[in-house]
Amino acid sequence: CGIVGYVSAPAAPGASEPAPAIDVILAGLRRMEYRGYDSAGVALVNGSEGVHAAKRAGKLGNLLADLEATPLPEAHTGIGHTRWATHGGPTDNNAHPHLADDGKLALIHNGIIENYAQLKQQLLDEGVEFHSETDTEVAAHWLAGKLRQSGDLTEAMRLTAQDLEGAFTLLAVHVDFPDTVVGARRNSPLVIGLGEGVNFLGSDVAAFIEHTREALEIGQDEVVTITPDSVAIVDLQGNPVQGKPFHVDWDA
Ligand code: GLU
Repeated sequence: CGIVGYVSAPAAPGASEPAPAIDVILAGLRRMEYRGYDSAGVALVNGSEGVHAAKRAGKLGNLLADLEATPLPEAHTGIGHTRWATHGGPTDNNAHPHLADDGKLALIHNGIIENYAQLKQQLLDEGVEFHSETDTEVAAHWLAGKLRQSGDLTEAMRLTAQDLEGAFTLLAVHVDFPDTVVGARRNSPLVIGLGEGVNFLGSDVAAFIEHTREALEIGQDEVVTITPDSVAIVDLQGNPVQGKPFHVDWDA
């Protein structure tokens, strides 16, 4: 029930390093705990080294204990999720992120994908292996397929959102796009947080309020791509869209 995404880049000589992705993401998830959840997970992209993910059923404390025992490598880019199970029980395997493209892609989702059964059958027929009982894993493999087709992560997310029915906030990262987080929304919340040399996505401004109060609204059926120094939004036809700027003025 909470989603956070973060992109940053190594500091220029003399400048201070941006906060590590894991710290920003876990703090964001903590701030969104009030929304309720039954599982939590994170995925980090670390240069060409790959996607590193950790996920656990239960409270954030379970995930934190795992991360303490087996820390993930440092990273500038990542996504984090708290789940409120709708399809598949609250187990470790059903927790998000869900991986696809041989572990090179990680995706998180809040909402329900209504046509997942039909899409899953199509993927099974193509020989795709599933590791969870969620509707979400279908979106992960679907995105991987569209990425193979288009070669572009934003375009792949746009094509995926076109094919999905239901309600969703989706965020994804991919090893081949190490400084990018891509997202999409339909009938489910997603906002952009604008930092300096860093950018954020959240299902709620609580995801990034400690870091910035400058935000952009994303409309329904739009796809957003953030890098450390850019934010781009398109509609599902691929037309560029201006997000609506707003300032968060409540006390954190
Ligand atoms: N439908 C997805 C699942 O059950 C996402 C649930 C959520 O919104 O957290 O895994």
